[in-house]
Amino acid sequence: MKLIRFGEVGNERPGMVLSDGSVIDASIFGEDYDEKFFDAQGLKRLRRWAATFSGSAPRLTSPVRYGPPVARPSKIVCIGLNYHDHAEETGLAIPREPILFLKSTSAISGPFDDLVIPRGSSKVDWEVELGIVIGRRASVVPESRAADHIGGYLIVNDVSERGFQLERGGQWVKGKSADGFAPMGPYFVTPDEIGNAHDLKMWLAVNGETMQKSSTAHMIFGIPLIISYVSQFMTLLPGDIISTGTPSGVGLGRKPPRFLKPGDVLECGIEGLGKQRQEVVPWQRGVKKTA
Ligand code: ZN
Repeated sequence: MKLIRFGEVGNERPGMVLSDGSVIDASIFGEDYDEKFFDAQGLKRLRRWAATFSGSAPRLTSPVRYGPPVARPSKIVCIGLNYHDHAEETGLAIPREPILFLKSTSAISGPFDDLVIPRGSSKVDWEVELGIVIGRRASVVPESRAADHIGGYLIVNDVSERGFQLERGGQWVKGKSADGFAPMGPYFVTPDEIGNAHDLKMWLAVNGETMQKSSTAHMIFGIPLIISYVSQFMTLLPGDIISTGTPSGVGLGRKPPRFLKPGDVLECGIEGLGKQRQEVVPWQRGVKKTA
């Protein structure tokens, strides 16, 4: 299944992309794609519902805003330096165990929402990443059972403010958590439609110029290990997102470094998961972009 959420910020409604490419409003199914939905076998029930009712559900015809395809999760766990070439471009050592950090859930935005440069910021950077959506509560899960806990996948752009992240002391979370720093979607795709999640092409472009071009095949730590590893330290709840790290080609790694400015257009995609596009805009007091 390929799921979307659509509508105004904070009032998104569930939808679904059918195999013929048409998009339906799934509101009459009666549930948003949130923790409760995943926890109560929502994906299985939605699949059954769609088999009978998707033909008669209302089609989305006029343009709508796409929201993040999963309702606000309890947490976003990110894996740092999970691609050799990215670790090298940052000048940091290849990690022996996965590096974990958290990103605030208020950073989540829709895949086509404007990207706001935070107040006082001059080093906003991009990171296209494969996001895992947890489908079933996971605590101290062995690698061999990790697949049972995957609900699906989506694109995460792990937008980062390098000054806040690296020059202000303490943890990376400061540079990862501004409003709009986690565009997600457009689609949440279940594993049966993805095939091998360790073999998906991924790319990112700024103003049409390709900056990142790689494949999930190049992750240092693979998906089962990541889920098992994170679950040793915290309970992953249904709907939680793990963003699995980015390949080389970020602005910080360029010589000279290249950061985003108002007017730039950011596009990224992952094979089978669709494509995002954000326009970069300046910060303005009182304008909130969080989904
Ligand atoms: Zn990242």
